[in-house]
Amino acid sequence: MGVSLKVKSDDSVENTQPCRSHLFESDKQWYVSRFDDLCDELTKLRGQLAERDEQLIKLRGQLAERDEQLAERDEQLAELRHKLSQNERRDQEVSQEPSSKKSNESQGCSEPQKDDATNQADEEIAMLQQALDEANRRLKQNSSNSSKPPSSDGLAKKPAADRNRSLREKSGKKPGGQAGHQGHTCQPRTDPDQIDDHFPDTCRHCGSKLDGDDVTGNHSSRQIIDLKDGKVHVIEHRAFERHCSCCQEITRAPYPESVKAPVPYGPELMAMVCILHAEIQLPVNKIVRILELFLKIRISEGTVTAMCRKTAQRLEPVVEKLEQKVCRDSKVKNLDETGFRVNGRLHWLHVVATRRLTVYRISEKRGEMFPKLGGCLVHDHWKPYYKVEGVKHALCNAHHLRELQLVSDLNPEEKWAGRMQQLLCRMNRWKKKKKGGDPDNFPELRGMSEEYDRILDQAIQHYESLPPLNQKSRGKQKKRKGHNLAVRLQEYKEDTSRFLTDPEVPFTNNQAENDLRMMKVRQKISGCFRTYQGAKDYAVLRSIVNTAKKQSLDLVKTVMSSPDQMLAKFELK
Ligand SMILES: [Zn+2]
Repeated sequence: MGVSLKVKSDDSVENTQPCRSHLFESDKQWYVSRFDDLCDELTKLRGQLAERDEQLIKLRGQLAERDEQLAERDEQLAELRHKLSQNERRDQEVSQEPSSKKSNESQGCSEPQKDDATNQADEEIAMLQQALDEANRRLKQNSSNSSKPPSSDGLAKKPAADRNRSLREKSGKKPGGQAGHQGHTCQPRTDPDQIDDHFPDTCRHCGSKLDGDDVTGNHSSRQIIDLKDGKVHVIEHRAFERHCSCCQEITRAPYPESVKAPVPYGPELMAMVCILHAEIQLPVNKIVRILELFLKIRISEGTVTAMCRKTAQRLEPVVEKLEQKVCRDSKVKNLDETGFRVNGRLHWLHVVATRRLTVYRISEKRGEMFPKLGGCLVHDHWKPYYKVEGVKHALCNAHHLRELQLVSDLNPEEKWAGRMQQLLCRMNRWKKKKKGGDPDNFPELRGMSEEYDRILDQAIQHYESLPPLNQKSRGKQKKRKGHNLAVRLQEYKEDTSRFLTDPEVPFTNNQAENDLRMMKVRQKISGCFRTYQGAKDYAVLRSIVNTAKKQSLDLVKTVMSSPDQMLAKFELK
């Protein structure tokens, strides 16, 4: 570029020579050498700018890895890029100036002007460097080297150097209770609140009826700890022996099914633990603490996990039915997914929800979807949803509104984004009033649809008239953020505006997003799950609790009820 400029300037020297014949030869030489100096300095400047450009591109790469922080960082970058391109333009202008100045006879103003331009460029470069350093510094901050919370680290895998640099030294002990640790096995209470006696009715040896007074007096007992009216309630079950007058053998009464369970805790206490876990989002150690402080019940963390495990096992068939109902039978459903960690490894929590039902599902791959999806899927334009066959789609307009906002924020001159936002909001207001319907019955729908097309046509035309973005790597030409969004909104117009024509399709995907938000909350207070099984149990319990909440059912009673009762409650039978 510098070379071509020089050639150009030489041309202009030749062209303008006749007009400047009255100038002294020495003056001319001074101009030529001065001009060469200027060109050299400018080439150097441009080199520096290219270096900055390279740094910017590198920074972009780092930015892409951080989805959540991306928006903020992108904004800064776009600003920097904008300044850079301005700089470059100014630089070009400056580099062309000397040649024109040669033909210009006023000699005095050339040097101070050049100095101004250089100083300004230097200042800009210093400013850019500072902004870059600041952006870099903020990018490198995470929970291990600043007071940022771990939840702000995002889902990207941490660099190996960060992963193993806990500031706490390893104890070398295994997790869980240590050798010699005094366990807290429940000691039987001497004063149970209730005593249930059980007697055998038939002899287990000869099958004779046993109903006389031939009780031997011997019995075994088991205590079940439960809650009643908010207090601990201990029931002692006593299994008595009877003597058979027919075969002279002794038969002991069996315990009821519920008493045989390995965990000696009653249904209400178990429900409480499950609700603390899946609804209140308490980590296991805090549940242990609550039971100890308020109910004076001492149980281990392992027992709490076992209680959740047992309840989840019982409720699994209900969740299967729920899933069938939501995925297959309901006409419109909302879908979303979020990442979380199981023992340090990234897993995904998927949700499919309607207004009355919610089902969660854990998977190791993000793309592992609910099977047998049908009807209309409301989602936020995550690509794999578009691979599901035989379904309609509706896109979340809350996402569109936010993306449009970013386009406006990045460049306030891209006015179409604001207009599109206004149009979407107007469409939403119309939907709230009219509930949606056939465009043939509502002429205003046609008007809004035409405006939609008009805004996007103009926006795309505008972007196509702009010079292409510079890009370092070969391959597909990159488009501006706003351009991509406009093209996408145009291409997916039907799915974006489906809420207008289908009364059951909502404007946003808030349904699913609300149902997933608790996972973020959970990660903040409880961290990750230790085991895959624990996470799966959580998903089962959470599905039940959330569905019961949506249907305004009593949470404790719902979790306590049998699968059949629950299916009836959820109206799934
Ligand atoms: Zn007998």
